[in-house]
Amino acid sequence: MRIVCGVKTYSTPAAMQRAAKLWKQEGRRIGFVPTMGYLHDGHMSLVRDARKRVGPNGIVVVSIYVNPTQFAPTEDLSRYPRDLKRDRALCRAEGVDALFLPSDAVMYPGRDAGAYSTYVVEERLTRRMEGASRPAHFRGVTTVVAKLFNCVLPDVSVFGAKDWQQAAVIRRMTTDLNFPIQIVVAPTGRAEDGLALSSRNAYLNPEEREQATVLIRSIEAARTAVRRGPVGVADLTKAIRRLIATAPAAKLDYVEFFHGESLEPVDEVRKGTHMALAVFLGKTRLIDNGRL
Ligand code: AMP
Repeated sequence: MRIVCGVKTYSTPAAMQRAAKLWKQEGRRIGFVPTMGYLHDGHMSLVRDARKRVGPNGIVVVSIYVNPTQFAPTEDLSRYPRDLKRDRALCRAEGVDALFLPSDAVMYPGRDAGAYSTYVVEERLTRRMEGASRPAHFRGVTTVVAKLFNCVLPDVSVFGAKDWQQAAVIRRMTTDLNFPIQIVVAPTGRAEDGLALSSRNAYLNPEEREQATVLIRSIEAARTAVRRGPVGVADLTKAIRRLIATAPAAKLDYVEFFHGESLEPVDEVRKGTHMALAVFLGKTRLIDNGRL
């Protein structure tokens, strides 16, 4: 264990587990926020939520790990933004107790040589939306989160509503695999103009950044539409497509309307229906969602 910048740092599963077991022996609750780093206030709001839940005597652990198994070969793994120094300072300022910073070599030993061969797969909630657009993505997410849970041994783990489908999948996995962990989903942190905070926003040029508000404007337009009564999925999808076409840098990947809990698609969109969309701004793919 190293103490850098006042935050204890662990870099192997064994060292992390040893620390977690000691904290448990001391009767301290462990709150956990898994991230891929390049932290922003959305992440920090999850940290604050975790702190509230474990109390001043509890331990808040943040993991920073850009998990290779959730990226397709064509995606942005190698250029995913990283700034560990800044992340550490943010964590220290927020009173994070411990950072878990594992390497690929300790998370997936022998993966390049084909030795690593165990994955966790959720088979129902992952079929649509992000699972359809990014076929290998959720297998990587469930695998890494299960592994991180086994390293950090948290009592409670906080996820962002920004990744709504991911949170539902993690909740399902936690129940199905009997992890004794409370899963909390915390609200989406947004910029002043409504754009959901995301590490990937750093990729946007000024023009794309301006047009990126088309995601939240789409959700708001759908909210306005259903206020007057139920709307057919096809009609609302057409209206959203038209709105997105007004932003020249934007290209719709998908928009879906579904039950917020079950993620089952609806036939008719009404107040309370959940909406999620993925939009490319240039080469950058952004997602957002909201309850209508
Ligand atoms: P990431 O680093 O993007 O993998 O995200 C790590 C965690 O932070 C996930 O639970 C995300 O859902 C959550 N998160 C990302 N962006 C936001 C945001 N704008 N507001 C709240 N949580 C977020």
